[in-house]
Amino acid sequence: MSATRVLVLNSGSSSVKYQLLDMSDSSRLAVGLVERIGEETSRLKHTPLTGGGGEREREEPIADHEAALKAVAAELAADGLGLDSPELAAIGHRVVHGGLKFTAPTVITDDVLAEIERLVPVAPLHNPANITGIRTAQALRPDLPQVAVFDTAFHTTMPEAAARYAIDVATADEHRVRRYGFHGTSHAYVSRETAKLLGKAPADVNVIVLHLGNGASASAVRGGRCVETSMGLTPLEGLVMGTRSGDVDPAVVFHLARVGGMSIDEVDTLLNKKSGLVGLCGDNDMREIRRRVDEGDEAASLAFDIYIHRLKKYIGAYYAVLGRVDAIAFTAGVGENAAPVREAAVAGLEELGLAVDGELNAVRSDEARLISPEYARVAVAVVPTDEELEIAQQTYALVGNPS
Ligand code: AMP
Repeated sequence: MSATRVLVLNSGSSSVKYQLLDMSDSSRLAVGLVERIGEETSRLKHTPLTGGGGEREREEPIADHEAALKAVAAELAADGLGLDSPELAAIGHRVVHGGLKFTAPTVITDDVLAEIERLVPVAPLHNPANITGIRTAQALRPDLPQVAVFDTAFHTTMPEAAARYAIDVATADEHRVRRYGFHGTSHAYVSRETAKLLGKAPADVNVIVLHLGNGASASAVRGGRCVETSMGLTPLEGLVMGTRSGDVDPAVVFHLARVGGMSIDEVDTLLNKKSGLVGLCGDNDMREIRRRVDEGDEAASLAFDIYIHRLKKYIGAYYAVLGRVDAIAFTAGVGENAAPVREAAVAGLEELGLAVDGELNAVRSDEARLISPEYARVAVAVVPTDEELEIAQQTYALVGNPS
């Protein structure tokens, strides 16, 4: 029997998201999530996608990642999909920060894990949880290949002109301060799927990808290679997000510290957790914001306008970076679902060859689709992202053994 299953793990500080896929046909066998790990009541949601069983949910204390993964393994085993199965080929881990060294998915060895650990200072919120997830999975199946798929890898093709901040080079290099970019797995997948939608090879198209979820980032992809992206040293830079400010004058930080009397940690929390849409209007869910806009709510309307203004600036900037744009692709929770965001982001850009067809834009679908009118020079597309499938594919391509 050949091993064709891949378990994808996305380990956060207090959560583990997982999917089990069968790479013989890229189908999903089970999906789930453990939340609030380490808190009084943790929650495990597990949905088997074979055999017709429905979602199972239970609340109980789950002390740490090891307990979480054991609980996940037990759920999978109950569906006949246990992690001890010879059909399991590998485990693919989402790792947020791969620095400059990891430009592609990598089989995890002790050296690789040490390097991911070395990157903790530039990704203190993310890499420690990823490392814990890897160690726990290794303990559970020490014999199995484990692969790290990095959020930053797709962006390592950015030229120095885009990747460097204009600050003292020696200081920047000493502290590894540069623009790394994130959401790379999504940008890679969506830019390729957009080329497919246009019936072209990725090498032949220039695409602006707008990944608009709770976190949000834009990228400029020339011929399949990323040449610019909006997130930087951390996922704070760039677009307005659910709770993150995106771009601000760095002097805002000094001002809040010196004049506002805030500590660096307080400013960090302010910009990462209490800003963006939630800071502007109290809500970070675009559905709620649109409902409030439709009711004439001023704070929600201003939040929406600021969000769109920033998005439009990035579309214009990336148009200039690419010179020629074949498609703009909207993806993730907001990009895939919020027709008013897509319409407003492109409104008034007809001179750039950009337009959205109202009827096509209003269609709700899980499929990749074009929403621009036929006459438009640049295709505008909605392309659902699938980071788990991309991680599974990259993992399987590296260590799968389709004998
Ligand atoms: P993600 O981070 O990609 O899961 O995106 C989550 C965000 O997508 C939510 O916070 C909402 O703002 C947004 N979202 C999800 N569904 C919809 C919808 N039907 N309409 C508008 N926004 C949506």
